[in-house]
Amino acid sequence: MTENKPDMNIMSNIAISSIIRAYHCPRQYYFHKESNFKPSESYTVCKQVSCAYPDHTEEEIWNMIILIQPDISPDARSFLSSCICAMTHTPIRPWTETDITVKSDKVGIYGLLDKYDALSGEYTLTRCTTAPKNGCWPDDAIRTAALLICIEETSAKRLKGMYIEYIPSGIIRYYEPTPKDRRRLIQIIRQIQDVNRGLFPSKPLHPPCDSCKYYEKCEKNKPKTLSFLFKK
Ligand code: SF4
Repeated sequence: MTENKPDMNIMSNIAISSIIRAYHCPRQYYFHKESNFKPSESYTVCKQVSCAYPDHTEEEIWNMIILIQPDISPDARSFLSSCICAMTHTPIRPWTETDITVKSDKVGIYGLLDKYDALSGEYTLTRCTTAPKNGCWPDDAIRTAALLICIEETSAKRLKGMYIEYIPSGIIRYYEPTPKDRRRLIQIIRQIQDVNRGLFPSKPLHPPCDSCKYYEKCEKNKPKTLSFLFKK
């Protein structure tokens, strides 16, 4: 008798963006697999602010943004103004390379690193959300843990942490992932592998249903109860 080998496409090649979606709710990952990906406008704006040279004007940054994402909504211009204003007194993190693909074959994940500075050997994650009061948001802790695992394997460098730029707040923080972050990361990867095998994930304890765009689909996929059998 021959044993079925695991499908390696299921076991590997998980995008870090998928990990974050599954972190919020594994069912969101399940439904997102069937939809088309569109880059977030606020990320495109923040990324350009974070990579702009000090002498770039708002007009020049906006023209660059339109070049990168031609269908961006004109409303994003006011977001750009507020980000530039927030970053006025915050020196942007230095970089010599941006958008670097990093991966870990050991864990089976890959992602895009925002910035690497060859002079200091430091890495930066660019976020388009406001900063929390202290430290970083829980999903950024997972992102950081995942990226550091990839960097370690891609460049054979062991790093304790990395910088996170919260552009809309003009705040930069340094974060070192904890063993709890790494444990959670491994759990999520397992949940994604289960979904990729065809399993419909259970609802987590505190899912963000109020703001979920898959709410209707999710309700339709509710497991049927057998209560009707007991109706008089
Ligand atoms: S509606 Fe709730 S449980 Fe369903 S996918 Fe969205 S967040 Fe998850």
